[in-house]
Amino acid sequence: MSYLAETPGLSNFESLVNLKTPDADGFYGSFGGAFIPEMLHPNVEELRNCYLDILESEDFQTEFRHLLKDYAGRATPLYLARRLSAHYGTKIYLKREDLCHTGAHKINNTVGQILLAQRLGKRRIIAETGAGQHGVATATVCALMGLECVVYMGALDIERQAPNVARMRMLGATVVPAMSGNQTLKDATNEAIRDWICNPVDTHYIIGSVVGPHPYPDLVARLQSVISEEIRWQMVEKEGVANPTSILACVGGGSNAAGAFYHFIEEKSVRLIGAEAAGHGVNTGETAATIALGKPGILHGSLSMLIQNGDGQVIEPYSISAGLDYPGVGPMHAALGVLGRAEYIPITDGEAMAAAFQLSRLEGIIPALETAHALAIFEKEKFGKDDVVVVCLSGRGDKDLGTYVASAY
Ligand SMILES: *Cc1c(COP(=O)(O)O)cnc(C)c1O
Repeated sequence: MSYLAETPGLSNFESLVNLKTPDADGFYGSFGGAFIPEMLHPNVEELRNCYLDILESEDFQTEFRHLLKDYAGRATPLYLARRLSAHYGTKIYLKREDLCHTGAHKINNTVGQILLAQRLGKRRIIAETGAGQHGVATATVCALMGLECVVYMGALDIERQAPNVARMRMLGATVVPAMSGNQTLKDATNEAIRDWICNPVDTHYIIGSVVGPHPYPDLVARLQSVISEEIRWQMVEKEGVANPTSILACVGGGSNAAGAFYHFIEEKSVRLIGAEAAGHGVNTGETAATIALGKPGILHGSLSMLIQNGDGQVIEPYSISAGLDYPGVGPMHAALGVLGRAEYIPITDGEAMAAAFQLSRLEGIIPALETAHALAIFEKEKFGKDDVVVVCLSGRGDKDLGTYVASAY
C-alpha cells in the first residue's frame, strides 16, 4: 500500500499557508528541514540568514524583474490552445515557459540565484545537472555576470546529452564528470555538495529545483513563483477571473510545478495536479514515481518522499526523461500530496511520448519530454466543457529530438 493511502488527508485547509512557505526551520508540514553535515553548516546558515532580506530588497527586485523581462523574455504568453481544447472538450491554456531564453523555466531560478550570489560577494558558481538544462541555464547567467562556473554532471549523462555539454562549454563553463553511483543526477548532486564543503567562502551552489536543505526549496519556489503571478493577471485579461479550474505541471524535483501552483495554493477552488514519471510503469521497478511509491526519507539535505528499499537505501530511478529521473521530490510537493491539497498522477514513458506527438501535430509546438508528462494527464482525467485548465509548458523539445525520432512514430 502506498504511503499516501495510509496517511490521513488534510480535513480542512487551515494550514495552507504552511504549504506555500515553510516554517522558520524549513518545514512544510512534516517535510523539509536542513539535514546537513556539520561541514556544510556555515554555507547554509549564511544563505538562510540572508536570502529573504535580499529577495525582498528593492535593488534585487528591480534587477530581477529587468532581467526576467529583457533577458529571459518574460512575461511568457498564456496561449489558448484551440485544437487541443476541442480534442479534449475543455478549455486549455498553455503557459509558455518553453519560450524562455535557454528553452525552459530553469532560467527564472538561475537569474535570481546569480543576483543573490553577487550580493553575497561570491565569485565562483557551482551547479549539478541531469539532462543539462539546469547546467546550461547556470552557465548562461555566469557568462552574463562574468563569474566562474563549474557544473557537475553524471558521466553517463555527459555521454547521453552531448549537445547540452557542448553548450555549457561554449558558454565558458567547466563540466566535471561524476563517476560515482550510476553516474547520473543523484551522483552529480553528491559531487556538487562535496565541492561546496571544500569551498565555503567564495562559492555559491545554484541548486536547480525545489530540493536540497532549507532555504533552497523556499528560495527556488519564490523565484519560480513568477509563473503563477503571471498566470493570475493573464487569466483576468483573458477570462475575467484570476483562478482557472485546474493547473497541470510535470514534477521532477518540482520547481516548475511549485512556480505554477504557488499563488493558487491557498485558492481552494483551484485543482492542482502534478504528473510524475512512471517510467515503464509504477510497479515495474523501473520508475521515478516518487509520490506514488515513496516513503519519508532524507536525501540531499531534506526530509521528503523518497523511493527506497526496506533498509532505507535509495532505489535508482528510471524515466525516459532525464529531467524527471530523480528518486526524490521537493518537500513542498510531499506535503501537498500527503495532505491532499495537490494530486500527483504517474505517467509512463509511452503515455508521455504519445502526448508529445499529439501536441506537436495539434498545435505546432514540440514540448520537452518532461512537459509531455503533464500533457498526458488529459488522457487520465476528464475535465468539463466549462472548465479552464492551465498547463505549465515547462520547456521545448529540441533537446529531445533524438529520442522522438528514434521512437516508433
Ligand atoms: C528540468 C526540467 C523539468 C523538471 O524539473 P522541475 O524542477 O520538476 O521543474 C521539467 N521540465 C523541463 C523542461 C525541464 O528542463
